[in-house]
Amino acid sequence: MGAKSSSCFSRKGKSLTEYYTELEAIDSADFIRQAHNNDMIPYRCDKCGLWHLAPKNRQTPSRKCLSCTDAQGKPKELYFSRDDAQRRAEIILREQGVSLSVYECPENSGFHLTKH
Ligand SMILES: [Zn+2]
Ligand SMILES: [Zn+2]
Repeated sequence: MGAKSSSCFSRKGKSLTEYYTELEAIDSADFIRQAHNNDMIPYRCDKCGLWHLAPKNRQTPSRKCLSCTDAQGKPKELYFSRDDAQRRAEIILREQGVSLSVYECPENSGFHLTKH
């Protein structure tokens, strides 16, 4: 089982559990799903380089927009609902400190994030 991280904390200020391998994190996620009925997703932490678990609801369903591109000319993510886009914006704000706002795609049914 994982140990408590000394560098990474949850939003509530508790230390995150760290795992050395993805497999270990997946095993633990399976255990949590069975024991607590919580869906958790392993992700590799940019800060400590180890694995943590995050609630599945941080995953926001999206696809690439066929009409809109970002500043680098890549297709923008198109979120299925305003809530999904808003949730992604909150994650980006928390993790990267970048404030984004939600707007409706002018061409397709869905929502984008923009810095402006
Ligand atoms: Zn970490
Ligand atoms: Zn679009």
